Amino acid sequence: MGATNEMMIEFDGRPSNEGFARVAVAAFCTQLNPTLEEVADIKTALSEAITNAIIHGYESEVHKIRLECKIEDRSISIKVIDWGKGMENIQKAMEPLYTTKPELERSGMGFAFMEAFMDELQVESRPGEGTTVFMKKNIGR
Ligand code: ATP
Ligand code: MG
Repeated sequence: MGATNEMMIEFDGRPSNEGFARVAVAAFCTQLNPTLEEVADIKTALSEAITNAIIHGYESEVHKIRLECKIEDRSISIKVIDWGKGMENIQKAMEPLYTTKPELERSGMGFAFMEAFMDELQVESRPGEGTTVFMKKNIGR
């Protein structure tokens, strides 16, 4: 109760770094004694946010992605930040099945998964400036 713990990493937005980011967050959140299912949920949501930064934010050019994590009481908060192309209409982008890249066989379900697997989801974005995805999950309740 009360104590918070934070970490931040910045890495190149390459698909090969997704696994690294997932493992880093999984390791960081072990102090909350999450179940395997809770860890799997967090990893899935994180993967969706990072894939979006790489594919949509940076359109597969390699630029930095920042991952900020905070443990507070019995919850973990995660921010995934890119400085890529951003979004015009966040609400529209978050609708299930909405995708701007159907040609890449995207299904438009990334945000829906983040919403389903986490307890909170907030997206901030500005065209030409980038995107911040904030997610929070309560552990053990
Ligand atoms: P899927 O995740 O199922 O493979 P998708 O990535 O298109 O498909 P979502 O993850 O739900 O679906 O994202 C919806 C849309 O929001 C994307 O098609 C894209 O237009 C926009 N978007 C999402 N993340 C970003 C981002 N970081 N930067 C710019 N645009 C984004
Ligand atoms: Mg996606």
